[in-house]
Amino acid sequence: MRYSAWSLVRGALSGHRHWAPAWHDAVPREKYDVLIIGGGGHGLATAYYLAKNHGLTNVAVVERGWIGGGNTGRNTTIVRSNYLFAESARLYDFSLRLYEGLSRDLNFNIMLSQRGLVMLAHSRHDLDSMSRWANAMRMNGIAAELLTREQVAQMAPALDLSPRARLPILGGFAQRRAGTARHDAVAWGYARAASARGVHILQNCEVRGFIRGGGAIVGVDTSRGRILAERIGIAAAGHSSVLAKMAGFKLPVTSYALQAMVSEPIKPILDTVVLSPGTGAYVSQSDKGEIVLGAMLDLFPSYAQRGSFAVKQAIVAATLALFPAFSRLQLLRQWAGIVDVVHDSSPIIGPTPIPGLYINCGWGTGGFKAIPVGGWTLAHALATGQNHPLAEPFQLQRFVTGRLIDEAAASGIAH
Ligand SMILES: Cc1cc2nc3c(=O)[nH]c(=O)nc-3n(C[C@H](O)[C@H](O)[C@H](O)COP(=O)(O)OP(=O)(O)OC[C@H]3O[C@@H](n4cnc5c(N)ncnc54)[C@H](O)[C@@H]3O)c2cc1C
Repeated sequence: MRYSAWSLVRGALSGHRHWAPAWHDAVPREKYDVLIIGGGGHGLATAYYLAKNHGLTNVAVVERGWIGGGNTGRNTTIVRSNYLFAESARLYDFSLRLYEGLSRDLNFNIMLSQRGLVMLAHSRHDLDSMSRWANAMRMNGIAAELLTREQVAQMAPALDLSPRARLPILGGFAQRRAGTARHDAVAWGYARAASARGVHILQNCEVRGFIRGGGAIVGVDTSRGRILAERIGIAAAGHSSVLAKMAGFKLPVTSYALQAMVSEPIKPILDTVVLSPGTGAYVSQSDKGEIVLGAMLDLFPSYAQRGSFAVKQAIVAATLALFPAFSRLQLLRQWAGIVDVVHDSSPIIGPTPIPGLYINCGWGTGGFKAIPVGGWTLAHALATGQNHPLAEPFQLQRFVTGRLIDEAAASGIAH
């Protein structure tokens, strides 16, 4: 069923009793051409682009919980492409461009809101590194604007720019095409569009082992039985290294908790996304009116989706120093997701050392914005056996050759 104004009217006239389920709950087949482990945004996007770009529809996505229940449904919904190296700029801007047409492509409103993103400079050093960063973006063909203090104040008037502010704001830089998108809608939209093309979405289906044959991986043992597949893709974020270990290889990935929280909803007060790289805090206002606070990593390996108190306290303190008016808000919810951090803060998309097994991981704190390109490039590798040109620099092999793309050291990218 296509969603449209007309289908809404028709639904209303029949008391909204005849809406079809957005995707089918499939029964597993014995064998698929391609099987994807992980029903987050990356896994679902991979399935969709396998069907749409490569005509492969004998495809299943196996998810141990419910789709979008991992980091895809836990993130702070920020999309942007303000990276420093040309390889990253190409990758993330391709993703942002796919996001720009995604609601139409999927026939599902992902609520993309390109409200802009402001990085705050708290010192002369921040100003210097941000001018280098903004210039690098421009050289990569991505618009970026250096901002004076007054321009920052115009974009986010609730910030404390008084002379007595605890965190001085000297200026910053903005990417106007950045913004937010509804995270659940991205997972649901890809699931619905993939299912409509014949992809099987298998929820409550945990992969517990791999089936081998002739040196390659030929299937998986799951909580719903054995499933064979010609090729398998892993898109399991914080659990990538667990699955890699099951398959018999090692990944340079460490899993950490990353937390976020939201306040009670209030009237519109913040019409852009504000990041303070110096403190690790970042803030936006959801369409429901909640103030969304993002944090830095809990810097010890963990699989517990909670997060520690010290990080929470530091982020709330930094946010209140930036926006003193928020001190009267009640926090409604706090949570964490387990993110897959690679030493150079760049992803891994391509083949693994095991024949027939491919992987998409290492997005760490910033893979929501990359869901379209992550799916696009993994689908390309699974369908053709070749790396997509955008993914070529992001191979596992770079940890052998040393050709790292170190966005953490270069731009201090945290999310
Ligand atoms: C608090 C927080 C804030 C964030 N903010 C942003 C942001 O603002 N912008 C941004 O770009 N990124 C952000 N991120 C990062 C982003 O959410 C992730 O990089 C992205 O969602 C990863 O998507 P994914 O599909 O790879 O993983 P996930 O959505 O985690 O999906 C992986 C799935 O694999 C499943 N799985 C694991 N093991 C198995 C198994 N054995 N069998 C079957 N299924 C399995 C899991 O259940 C899970 O559903 C944030 C993350 C967090 C936690």
